Amino acid sequence: MAEENQYDVIIIGSGPGGYVAAIRAAQLGLKTAIVEELELGGVCLNRGCVPTKALIHVSRELNALKDADAFGVTAGSVTLDEAKMDDFKKSVVDTQTSGVGFLMKSNKIDVYHAHATITGAQTVALEAREGDMSGALDVPAQITASKGIVIATGAVPVMIPIPGIEYCVSSDDLLEGKERPEFESITIIGGGVIGVELATFYAGIGKQVTLVEALDRVLAKIEKDASTAIVQQLKAQGASVNAKSSVQRVEKLEDGRLRTVFTDKKGKEQSADSDYVLCAVGRKANIDGLFAEGMSVETDRGGIVVNDKYETSVPGIWAIGDVHSGSSQLAHAASFEAEQAVEEIAGGSVRERDQQAIPAVVYTWPEYAHVGMTEEEAKAAGHDVLTGKFPLGGNAMAVVEQSGRSFMKTIFDAETEELLGVTMLANRASDMIDESTMAIANHMTFDQMLRGMRPHPTYMEGFTEALLAAKGEAIHMAPAKK
Ligand code: NAD
Repeated sequence: MAEENQYDVIIIGSGPGGYVAAIRAAQLGLKTAIVEELELGGVCLNRGCVPTKALIHVSRELNALKDADAFGVTAGSVTLDEAKMDDFKKSVVDTQTSGVGFLMKSNKIDVYHAHATITGAQTVALEAREGDMSGALDVPAQITASKGIVIATGAVPVMIPIPGIEYCVSSDDLLEGKERPEFESITIIGGGVIGVELATFYAGIGKQVTLVEALDRVLAKIEKDASTAIVQQLKAQGASVNAKSSVQRVEKLEDGRLRTVFTDKKGKEQSADSDYVLCAVGRKANIDGLFAEGMSVETDRGGIVVNDKYETSVPGIWAIGDVHSGSSQLAHAASFEAEQAVEEIAGGSVRERDQQAIPAVVYTWPEYAHVGMTEEEAKAAGHDVLTGKFPLGGNAMAVVEQSGRSFMKTIFDAETEELLGVTMLANRASDMIDESTMAIANHMTFDQMLRGMRPHPTYMEGFTEALLAAKGEAIHMAPAKK
C-alpha cells in the first residue's frame, strides 16, 4: 500500500467527537486521517446544537423587542423575516464548519469525503461521496491505521413505528432547513431536550405548537420544579403541552395538513392538526454500514460497548461520543472523551479527567443547567443530603432582566459537605454552571465554595445564596420557620 494511505490513527466522523480527536492526535504527533461522509462538523454543527441555538437566539431577540415596551422602549411593529432568519442560521453554521476545515488543514490532518467501512482492526475501506468538502483529498479504496481507529459516527433520530410516521420529520430534517416552507403550526412528538428546545423556538416565533410526551411530565429526567417552570413558560408562549399522552397515528388530511391522534392522560382520544409533525423521541447510535461482513464489535441496545478508556471489544478500535452505549449524547462529553481516547492511543501521559461531572443544558427561557446528581439521585446513591434552594426573585440581576421563574439549587453530602449537584434555571445558566462543574470534578466542599466572593450585581450572587441556603444561612431570604 502506498505510504500516503498509511496512518497512525483514522477517525471516522467529524462531529465534536471526531474533529477534536483528530486535532488532539495531530498535536500528539500522530499521522492522522479523518473520514466524513456528509459535512465537516457532524450533527452538532450542521443539524443540531449550533443551528438550534442560532434559531433560539433569534426568537429571544424577537420577544425582547416585543417586551421592551415594559421599560419604555417602543420598537414599533416588530416582524420576523423567516428567510433572513434562515440565512442567519446558515451563516452561523457555515462559519463554524469552515472553522473545522481550517483546523484540519492547519493541523495537517488528511480529510476524506467518503463513507468508511471498517474491514479489519487496522483497515478501513473508503467509498467516495459526491459534493465539495473543504480541503478533502482524492479518496483511495483503503487506508490503514497502525495505532488506532476511532469511531465517532454519532447518532441518528429514532422514528417511532406508528401508522403515518412517513409523514413526520426529524430534527435533522427541520434544522437542515431543506426548502422549509413558511408554516403556521407544528406538533412535536417527544418532550425531551430536542422537543422542548424546538417548542421554545417555534412558540417564540409565533407558531402554534402542540407537544405530546408519553411520560408523566416533559423533561422527565430533570428536577421536577425546573420542568414545571419550563412548561409554564411554554404555555405562556401559547404552546399546548400534553404529558402522559400516547400517540396513536398521524393522518394526512385533504388540505395536506397532518392530524396527530393521541390518547391524553385521562385515556381520552385527542387530535392536533398541524402543518408539520416532528418526531423527537431520542437518537440511536449510527453504526449501520460501518462494519464489513464478518467484522463487528460488542454492542448493547444498539450502542458500541467501550471500557473506561473508550476502547471497544476489538483492541485498536475505539468509540467516542453518541455512538457508544454509555454515552450522555452531549457534544462536550464527546469532545472530552475524544481527547482521552487519543491520549490513550498515543501511549504517553493521559490527563486526569472527571468523566462523570457532565454539565447538561436545555436552552429554554430561562435556561436550565445541571451538573452532578439530582437530589433524588444523591439519596438513591446512599447520601444524607443538605440541599439549598434560592429563588432568584430576590436577586438584583434577575429583577433587572425580568428573568421570570428562576432559581438555583445545591446538593451537598451532609457528612463530608462535598458538593454533589447543582441545578440552575436562569438566564445564562449555560455559562454559569461551569463553576459547579469544576467544583464537583475537584470534590470541593461547602467551605471551599464560599471562600471567595462573587460580584454584584450578578446572577451568581444567587448561587452564593443557594450554597448558603444548604445550611439555612442565605442572606436575601426569610429564615425558615422554626
Ligand atoms: P430525549 O431522550 O431527551 O427525549 C425523548 C422524549 O421522547 C422522552 O421524554 C420520551 O419519554 C419521549 N417519547 C419517547 N417515545 C415517545 C412516544 N411514542 N410518544 C411521545 N413521547 C415519546 O431525546 P431527544 O430529545 O430526541 O434528544 C436526543 C439526545 O440529544 C438527548 O440525549 C439529548 O440530551 C441530546 N440533546 C442535547 C441538547 C443540549 O445539550 N442542549 C439538545 C438537543 C439534544
